[in-house]
Amino acid sequence: MEKKSRGFQTPLTVLAVVLLVLALVTWRLSAGVIPVARAEGSVGIPILMYHKINPDPETGNLGLRVPPSEFDWQMQYLFSQGYHSVSLQEVKDYIKEGKPLPPKPVAITFDDGYRDNYTYALPVLEKVGYTATVFVVVNTIGKVNRFDLGVQPVNQMMNWSELRDMASRGIAIGSHTMDHPHLSEVAPEKALYQIRESKSALEKGLGQPVKYFCYPYGSYNQIVKKAVEECGYEAATTTHQGLAYPSDDVFALRRVYVTGQMSHQKFIREITRTKHVTENVIAAYKVDGGGYPAVYLLSKLF
Ligand SMILES: [Zn+2]
Repeated sequence: MEKKSRGFQTPLTVLAVVLLVLALVTWRLSAGVIPVARAEGSVGIPILMYHKINPDPETGNLGLRVPPSEFDWQMQYLFSQGYHSVSLQEVKDYIKEGKPLPPKPVAITFDDGYRDNYTYALPVLEKVGYTATVFVVVNTIGKVNRFDLGVQPVNQMMNWSELRDMASRGIAIGSHTMDHPHLSEVAPEKALYQIRESKSALEKGLGQPVKYFCYPYGSYNQIVKKAVEECGYEAATTTHQGLAYPSDDVFALRRVYVTGQMSHQKFIREITRTKHVTENVIAAYKVDGGGYPAVYLLSKLF
């Protein structure tokens, strides 16, 4: 009797576990946490995320630093394949209003505002006629990367005249806060200050509207996201890996994180994939995520 009962219970237990897993997977799929292939025909836009473009190993490891020769190869590849660079304005208009984009759109972004963006990246962009957005940390303008010293070597950041020159040559300047904090971990009023003050300081210094925001370390929550919207920004980028789609939230845009170790094949794979993948979410958080523990990373996936 006991044996029969156990034999009956085991398949039931297995069934229950399978159903539970299925329910969990379905729920996470609907929440958009597990990668799903998008509807055929919808245009996914790669928004490339760069930091430093520098040949000098002294300026940092290849997680955040792409050598100019590699950056040049990537831009030449995009150009030769018929990619059209689009601004974040065009991405936003496409997502919010369905405004058409040119064929094979790609958006290019740089985080933090390193001087090498001006010295090394700008000439490469101009060679192929591509635009980009640079997200700067206001209190480091003309100074050094004091927000990650100790983790990264000293890097010179762009000054106001370099930023103004970038802007006059068609590069959009966006905000990456005043001091590069983890916005979801500071008090809401401090987060609000970082978001609002950086916009007005940049607009004053540049003499033009600043419409785009980038969450430092990809750190945000609903309160932070709402504050970004209410301060008058029109879109915001994250460190979530993947392409941008018409159904996406313009205040939580995914990007394709480009590192200096990336092979040409991987670069091509990342910009043409139709879903985001877990290993890159983890890689992105490791570098610009302030060292989140593995359990936190897994919790982002399940
Ligand atoms: Zn940053």
